Amino acid sequence: MMDETTAARTVRRAVDSCYARGLNLTPLRRRVLEVVASAPTPVSAIAIAERLSDPTRHLAPQAVYPTLDFLMEAALVRHVGLRKAYVCCDPQTAGDCAILLVCTACDCVSEIAAEPLRACINRTASLRRFVSGRRPMEIEGLCSACQG
Ligand SMILES: [Zn+2]
Repeated sequence: MMDETTAARTVRRAVDSCYARGLNLTPLRRRVLEVVASAPTPVSAIAIAERLSDPTRHLAPQAVYPTLDFLMEAALVRHVGLRKAYVCCDPQTAGDCAILLVCTACDCVSEIAAEPLRACINRTASLRRFVSGRRPMEIEGLCSACQG
């Protein structure tokens, strides 16, 4: 679970990373990142749009998708297909293929590096002349906090 300090640190690291790479972290992109970083579990585009809407300005989920695409491209956010939602990248594995460990009890997501396993899968898949993609793999189970 991300506390306020962790979320703030995640955003500051992302701001620094974008600056260093010459990426334009617009106010909307930063606000979307802040919402994702401060959520303890994966957050959907609809929930992000709701969080960023106020009585004077309604933000549609469609307005959030291009921003999420940018943040994924920049390796700051990952899409969790099992939850149809988004989490911040773990900076330790952000540049790599990752395996996302999704807890079925508390919905938390953690990342581990996938390269050794990915190489094994690619070798096996190549026997079928199948080329696997670069999307993160996702595994459901129980996190350490949720195990009896
Ligand atoms: Zn859990």
